[in-house]
Amino acid sequence: HAKANGKDGYCFYSDTMSINSANRLSLERDLRLALDRRELMVCYQPQVCASSGRVLGLEALVRWQHPERGLLYPRDFLPLAEETGLIGKLSQQVLDQACHDAGLWIRDGHPDLRLAVNLSPSQVEHPQFVKTLLEQLQTHRFPAANLEIEITENVIMNDLDQISRKLQDLADTGIRIAIDDFGTGYSSLNYLHRLPIHTLKVDQSFVRSIRSRDDGVCIVNAIIAMAHGLKLEIVAEGVETDEQLHYLKRLGCHQVQGFYYGPAVPAAEIAPLLNISKLPPSRTG
Ligand code: C2E
Ligand code: MG
Ligand code: MG
Ligand code: MG
Repeated sequence: HAKANGKDGYCFYSDTMSINSANRLSLERDLRLALDRRELMVCYQPQVCASSGRVLGLEALVRWQHPERGLLYPRDFLPLAEETGLIGKLSQQVLDQACHDAGLWIRDGHPDLRLAVNLSPSQVEHPQFVKTLLEQLQTHRFPAANLEIEITENVIMNDLDQISRKLQDLADTGIRIAIDDFGTGYSSLNYLHRLPIHTLKVDQSFVRSIRSRDDGVCIVNAIIAMAHGLKLEIVAEGVETDEQLHYLKRLGCHQVQGFYYGPAVPAAEIAPLLNISKLPPSRTG
């Protein structure tokens, strides 16, 4: 379109393009450096038992403290990592860090603590995925039963037989499998009884609709009812208010995760959270 506007339009378009690609190149170079120096940081967000308020699990969420750009979130650099093939190295470092940190907490009086780790589609599609993951756990002597991997429905869209074999191999070792952002992907529900799935994570967009009482609430109700029927555990994501918490508890949602209990925090801030049975709400009402 810009081209059709004549010479000026074309130049404007082309300048914007080169600025963006320069920006992209510098971010890519910085990400390579950060990975070489192991500078990415893993933060942990509590997954809380809806009835007792105890912390049952922690989800590892990657952060990048960039020297000039400040603290970066996954949306700022994960797409780039996917496009440039750096995602493999990044995922490996996140899992290393998370197994190290959670391993200490597990051995330090929290034997049942669950570590939840997000996996990217390309990671799961890699032919050596299962082998690499199991080797990493072994290196850290991290108990498989304490790990839950989170995959999205987009991972399942492709080859159901192949993904089924991989997930079954992992489930056989005791690793748990969660479907993240449940209800927002493009897969059919068919996979739910064909794959070894343990947990459904209700996407935060549905949880948000509890306040406004729009049609999204019906989806929350349906997902939780279905999870009960299939004997799956339910984690509600993005819980921010008392109202959402009470609604979800009433429906029989097992676990909640969200700013109501707290955001993802650095490893150093986790130990105190594991020893209290009711986290103070981060906001009231
Ligand atoms: P996700 O796995 O669905 O994680 C939940 C996201 O919601 C996190 O964003 C979390 O900080 C945010 N969140 C938690 N509670 C609340 C709340 O109450 N309200 C709101 N508005 N947001 C809340 P974050 O850390 O920016 O991560 C975004 C996504 O990036 C994650 O979504 C996950 O898909 C991906 N991701 C994060 N870390 C990793 C990683 O190490 N590897 C891979 N492959 N993906 C990751
Ligand atoms: Mg997740
Ligand atoms: Mg999610
Ligand atoms: Mg998400």
